[in-house]
Amino acid sequence: MRLINRHVQVQSYTMEILKAYRFRLEPTPEQRQSFVEFAGCRRFVWNKALELNLYRLDHKRPIIRYRDIAGMLRLWKQSDEFGFLAQAHSQVLQQCLKDLDRAFADAFDKKQPGKRMPRFKRKGLNDSFRFPQGIRVDGARVFLPKIGMVRMRLSRPLAGEIRSATVSRRGKHWFVSILCRVEVDTPVHPSDSIVGIDRGVVNLATLSDGSAFEGSKPLRRLSRKLARLQRQLARKKKLSANWHKQRDRITRLHINIADARSDAIHKATTTISKNHAIVCLEELRTRNMTASAKGSADEPGSNVRQKAGLNRSILDMGWFEFGRQLEYKQQWRGGQVILIDPRNTSRKCSACGFTDKGNRADQASFSCMACGHAENADVNAARNILAAGLAATACGGIGRKAPREAGTGGAAMQPLPLAA
Ligand SMILES: [Zn+2]
Repeated sequence: MRLINRHVQVQSYTMEILKAYRFRLEPTPEQRQSFVEFAGCRRFVWNKALELNLYRLDHKRPIIRYRDIAGMLRLWKQSDEFGFLAQAHSQVLQQCLKDLDRAFADAFDKKQPGKRMPRFKRKGLNDSFRFPQGIRVDGARVFLPKIGMVRMRLSRPLAGEIRSATVSRRGKHWFVSILCRVEVDTPVHPSDSIVGIDRGVVNLATLSDGSAFEGSKPLRRLSRKLARLQRQLARKKKLSANWHKQRDRITRLHINIADARSDAIHKATTTISKNHAIVCLEELRTRNMTASAKGSADEPGSNVRQKAGLNRSILDMGWFEFGRQLEYKQQWRGGQVILIDPRNTSRKCSACGFTDKGNRADQASFSCMACGHAENADVNAARNILAAGLAATACGGIGRKAPREAGTGGAAMQPLPLAA
């Protein structure tokens, strides 16, 4: 639907955003060896500090915060046992402890219910390390402290002031993601449309105008293949040539799954963000959804199997990622995301407002018991979400930035709005 008055006001100042540029690196064999060592040291420090803090939590003691644990890192480096840590750049290891400190803080933050406790890092799959400063780019080469000039495939020009760089492995290739601070004019969204969106299981997203985006459900399709490959791996002799080959196959499959999922979500959020100035979404509380299915050992949840299946789909479809992408894409374009209370959006009749769970004839269709209004259930929900969003705009909620959605933080591969 169209807005009668433009709610998004034209603003003439500029804003700063962080933009990430990702390039494939072409390291020499020595540099590649350094990458492996840096990533190994970082993983070691992360796991050691994590283990220490989890042990303290188990014994009801507060975790050790960054300042103190950084002092312990200095002692580790001087010891015979962990002296190998000195081969990595010290800021890389300090950064890792800061990241861990942040992960713990987020996990305990009640406003971010989707955040989970930090986990141990395993070798190989997500090897990475980050330089908080000291990065220079010279043509198609990037300077990494203690490693030197590394050639990279400069696929697009770099702009802005370089802030930090993350080196990571994907399969057998290494990449660098360079974060730059860029000043841009505050954009004004080209459209004046407002839309409600229902995130669903059958479709990734259903819009209040009746259109829908299919989600790629690669995990389900490929999970059988993954399970088969993993069974084969278990039968192979550990650390043999065939075992390594099989493990590489599994890593590639993990990457394919992640790529296909990310692709579908990016396509949907880009299209939606281009066409609608204001997007209304339900606020998600996934932790509740997952917890309610499981219940506890003494009091198991109802329909555990069924709900576990649904939760699986929710995670599979990337609902959080969808919300996160819409939020930053709207910010670039001068649009907005409004999060609304999810209560009753699926039970309420979008025509007359009558609310009853009997309105839902089945998973797919909505049929109002009061006025007879019948519609696709997801479209009906999207219309309710739009109505709730409009109500929020009417009471002035629109001038506020949408609250950060729980659990949507993470990958810095995409430009992020700069925190104040
Ligand atoms: Zn009705």
